[in-house]
Amino acid sequence: MKTKKKDFHRRAIGSHVLKPETQMMGYGFDPSLSEGSLKPPVFLTSTFVFDSAEHGRDFFDMASGRRERSPGESEGLIYSRFNNPNMEVLEDRLTLWENSEMAVVYSSGMAAIFTAIMAHVKPGDVLIYSQPIYGGTETLLLNILPKWGIKAVGFAANDSKAAVDVAFEKAKALGPIGLALIETPANPTNGLVDIAYIAGKLKDERNSSDERPPLAVDNTFLGPVWQKPLEHGADIVLYSMTKYIGGHSDLVAGAAMGPKKYLKPMKALRGAIGNQIDPHTCWMTLRSLETLKIRMEKATDNAKIIAEYLRDHDKVEKVHYLGFLEPGSAAHSLYERQCLAPGSTFSFDVKGGQAEAFRFLNELSVLKLAVSLGGTETLISHPASTTHSGVPKDLREIAGVTDSLCRVSVGIEDAGDLIADLEQALAKI
Ligand SMILES: *Cc1c(COP(=O)(O)O)cnc(C)c1O
Repeated sequence: MKTKKKDFHRRAIGSHVLKPETQMMGYGFDPSLSEGSLKPPVFLTSTFVFDSAEHGRDFFDMASGRRERSPGESEGLIYSRFNNPNMEVLEDRLTLWENSEMAVVYSSGMAAIFTAIMAHVKPGDVLIYSQPIYGGTETLLLNILPKWGIKAVGFAANDSKAAVDVAFEKAKALGPIGLALIETPANPTNGLVDIAYIAGKLKDERNSSDERPPLAVDNTFLGPVWQKPLEHGADIVLYSMTKYIGGHSDLVAGAAMGPKKYLKPMKALRGAIGNQIDPHTCWMTLRSLETLKIRMEKATDNAKIIAEYLRDHDKVEKVHYLGFLEPGSAAHSLYERQCLAPGSTFSFDVKGGQAEAFRFLNELSVLKLAVSLGGTETLISHPASTTHSGVPKDLREIAGVTDSLCRVSVGIEDAGDLIADLEQALAKI
């Protein structure tokens, strides 16, 4: 019997475009290459055997960029620091969520962020970034990059356009802008940054190579299901896949998506320094992608129920949840333009200070006390004494990271169970 050759990179049936949640179960993997295995095996190998000496030469020519792939030719596997089937299937599937030309995966979110910076910024360039930003990123920008002559200038999420304009002038006074790096919504306060406005500002800038500096967006909090930065003018989308994409608090990984122009140099740098993901973690991440959308939907539904419960509780001062933005406010209209849902990580102030917050946190049992977010389980933390304890108290207070603030990452448990736990703990304050 003759069998028809299947296309494992098929994007549509006729004019019907397939959704990422459907494609996660098969896209980019040909079972016939793996004994008919439905799922990709874990390819625990450091190196790959060439069919011929000519193939080896061709693969190296393509991998090093000496020539482009011809139609129908495969790029070929060489060595697992450059590529590996698990890594390639994962990258192919990630492009679908972001509708991007290319995806490159990294050993952590920080590895993705650092590689984006090092691939696009030169000594003497200035980086402009939004604040607050993930603590690890802030450490890179303020303590590590200055050693290579790269300066950073910040502006606050929720800042007016005029304040962003002032930050751009301040940055330009120090040198050419090499890259803009923003995180929206910001952690832990959910302040928003206008992606399209920053993209528009960069149009008028030239970096030290006389090109428009790229805009990188850390989309860990809402993406890829609830926010699509490439549609708003971003050039590079960055992820800690440790959070929602991995989603089970059992792996550390990162990714970048975007057009080849910005991603190819990042892939080349990964090959040079070796911050790729190991095959097993790629496989775990592939499994997670199959349930990404339903996990994010359920967590988002739960978060709305929890946020509404907390808002109405007399021991709670204020809930900083994207679903509660004032209609008619600038933040609300930006939210409507940029975000598809409020997500499931938010913070709230209990009445009182650190003592009251600690008393409440210590009584919880279903909600686990831990940093990180985006897992199936609900996690709660006290940013002022943990993730943001390195920030001086006065700056913390300005950013809204008060001693009474608790951050919660709502999971996919039964919402009633979570409320029962919150209820008994709030009663002890
Ligand atoms: C966790 C996180 C990171 C760092 O990611 P790792 O996978 O821990 O390296 C970067 N940005 C944001 C917004 C994060 O939440």
